[in-house]
Amino acid sequence: MPASISRSTAYDQATAPFTEELAPGVHAYLQPPGSWCISNAGVIDAPSGPVLVDTAATIARATALRDTALRLCGGAAPRTVVNTHHHGDHTYGNSVFLPHATVVGHAECAEQLLAAGLQLHQIWPDIDWGEIILAPPTTTYSTTVHRLPHPELRIELIHPGVAHTTGDTIVWLPEQRIAFAGDLLMPGRSPFCFMGSATGMLTALQVLRELDPAVIVPGHGPVCGPEAIDDAADYFHRLLELARRTRAEGTDPLAAARAADLGPHSALGESERLGANLLRALADLDGTPPGAPLPLGPALSHMIALNGGTPLRCCA
Ligand SMILES: [Zn+2]
Repeated sequence: MPASISRSTAYDQATAPFTEELAPGVHAYLQPPGSWCISNAGVIDAPSGPVLVDTAATIARATALRDTALRLCGGAAPRTVVNTHHHGDHTYGNSVFLPHATVVGHAECAEQLLAAGLQLHQIWPDIDWGEIILAPPTTTYSTTVHRLPHPELRIELIHPGVAHTTGDTIVWLPEQRIAFAGDLLMPGRSPFCFMGSATGMLTALQVLRELDPAVIVPGHGPVCGPEAIDDAADYFHRLLELARRTRAEGTDPLAAARAADLGPHSALGESERLGANLLRALADLDGTPPGAPLPLGPALSHMIALNGGTPLRCCA
């Protein structure tokens, strides 16, 4: 049985966060089911200090992640926290790892984290987030590749362009061929590009493909292989085709999203994201710069409409 099948079966059966060792000292921290705000993380027991990838959405979840990281790293606390992007479900837990750790990310990640503020609180006011103290990356990079200063273990941060957000980072271990892809990939869940670019997602997925990863830890969903890149790219090809048709026929975007058939992607979790994704794909077609802010109100109302008129379901 291919590893990806047994992996996703284990993931589907899990009811609590669990870890999977992908190479000696390299762990995926997986939070099923991967729906809104239930995100993954990574723990790398590097010789010059543990490295954590992303920090979960609530203080309770970040504290559980910290306890697991301590156990996996022989009691050593993370020295470095890398944020794959600014969204709160990947960064709200940053402060739990301060002051021991340095938070590292793309410069746009730091900027957008502060600009977004406590955005998830506004979308989901009833969630017990805990005492969130925003802690954006203080070590930032603006190049395409930034290598962490770990002489014994090569860890590269790769910015694939504007895609899921303006400040995405792939954490890449070239020797192990392991990629932490953040929300460029969410197998089993609907992709989301409203704060980035639909065409940029295709470019970023190609960047990820060309790394030739053997194993990928997605931002949400089970550990996967490169086949998940093709699945996600297929979604964005269909999305952009839908956007072209919507413009050509002059259809209202919400009506177009309601009537759309995305084939195998229609059954993905959070399929209501199509409502927001189509607005971004239309903006791409219209020449709006990738990642330029679009109003959140219509995106939320279109997603709620596609969700049967009920609020988006978050179990953080
Ligand atoms: Zn995200």
